[in-house]
Amino acid sequence: MLAFAPEIFEGESLYSWLTRWAMRAGMPSSRVALEHLVGRNHRQLMSLLPSVVEPLARFSHLPALDLVEHHSALPYWRLFTNETVFNSVQKDMVSGDTQSAYSRLSIVASRVTEPSVIRYCPRCAASDLHQYGVAFWHTEHQLPGVIACATHRVMLVSVPRSRSRLVLPPQLERAVQLSLAPMVAVQLAQLSRELLDASWSPLGNERLIYAYSVRLAEMGFASANLNVRQQAWRSELEAYWNPLLSEPSLDSVFSLGKRQQFPACMVRGVAANHHPLKHLLMVGALFESVSDFMRFTETAEATHQKVLERHARRIDRDKLRRKLEVEQQTLSKLKAGQSLRRVAKTLGGSVSTFKRIALRGGIEIKRRTQKLFEEERRVIWRKLVIGKSTQDIAAHIGCSVGAVEQELGRYSELPELRSRIRFYHKRGEHRANLVATQNSLKTPSRKQIQDAARASYTWLFKHDKDWLYKQLPEAIPRADRRRSK
Ligand SMILES: [Zn+2]
Repeated sequence: MLAFAPEIFEGESLYSWLTRWAMRAGMPSSRVALEHLVGRNHRQLMSLLPSVVEPLARFSHLPALDLVEHHSALPYWRLFTNETVFNSVQKDMVSGDTQSAYSRLSIVASRVTEPSVIRYCPRCAASDLHQYGVAFWHTEHQLPGVIACATHRVMLVSVPRSRSRLVLPPQLERAVQLSLAPMVAVQLAQLSRELLDASWSPLGNERLIYAYSVRLAEMGFASANLNVRQQAWRSELEAYWNPLLSEPSLDSVFSLGKRQQFPACMVRGVAANHHPLKHLLMVGALFESVSDFMRFTETAEATHQKVLERHARRIDRDKLRRKLEVEQQTLSKLKAGQSLRRVAKTLGGSVSTFKRIALRGGIEIKRRTQKLFEEERRVIWRKLVIGKSTQDIAAHIGCSVGAVEQELGRYSELPELRSRIRFYHKRGEHRANLVATQNSLKTPSRKQIQDAARASYTWLFKHDKDWLYKQLPEAIPRADRRRSK
């Protein structure tokens, strides 16, 4: 009886096939049939990597490798798993030993929650019933994080998992309770299906990191030399997958390492295999599909080159803008009468640089003294004698400060005179200020005056002490100071 294996359908899971087989085997109960088929010592029947391949292949005369490749979830791990590890797990599944498969595929280590339910699409079920006479479980609907049907874009219906119970989806002609799935749920289902069907050979860890980093730089989440802005990228990922964040598998990924580990771990030099779901969350937000991502990995260097060139162009643009700004400032300062030396000091750079800017800007910068008319020179002299600043004079005459300074150099007695004039001028200001302050106070003490006109007080103390002490009220004897306050 058991030898009459039912046909296994495309995309059907081993659990689904086993269930149909046991139900139709003509045994007293499906439980007895189950024992005959796979014995008592099986592990989770609904698991993504079930341990029942060997007996089922034996009874059905189907190649065990075909059952693993087309009816278990193992191929989902192929692209993002080290080839040696993958091949050894595949070999063990063929021989019925899946004890360590989970830990070797890093499912335990990366703590991605496996679904606690088994799922079906109501529309797939109705269509299967119509086409094959039975509604069955599809492997692609059982993958972590998949809650939508990639074909029909509706939400899958969940049934709680049980260790060894044999159940099929409801056998209904017409789909009931359909609800449209969010777009990202459909995308994740499609990405997961792509992995399941993929025949690409795995990419090395370094290649993956490089491809992700280049794409992130292209999208503005990393610098041109590929430093990823982790905070911004994490927020972007959360926003992107927002409708699915409460799904346990996705939640387990986003919660890793106190919510700090993912996605930073995807671009760091860790050689560990990451769970495919973590890759799909990256790939889905960065690319249209897994195949789109695979095409990108082939041209990642060229894309990186473009990113670097774009960055260099931006720097050049910034440099040029800065240069134009400096030129404009230089010209306007020179036109306002500032000397080349002063402009060079303010804006930073050599005098000859600014001279070139001036020449390009059509400004005549070195007016010789000889070119000043006699009348102008007299005006300059008169202003120098009364202590006006060289800048003010240059602006007044409309010549360069250099020309005024040269004129000043012609009279050896002038600098001394000018500094005396400036001294008297300053002294006058400070004396007036102190007197005004003193007059504004009712019963001024030395201390009050000093506080109210500190700058003048200090200047006078330094340069005009005799006058200051004559002007100030009598000092309060030291012993009385505290009381008088
Ligand atoms: Zn469907």
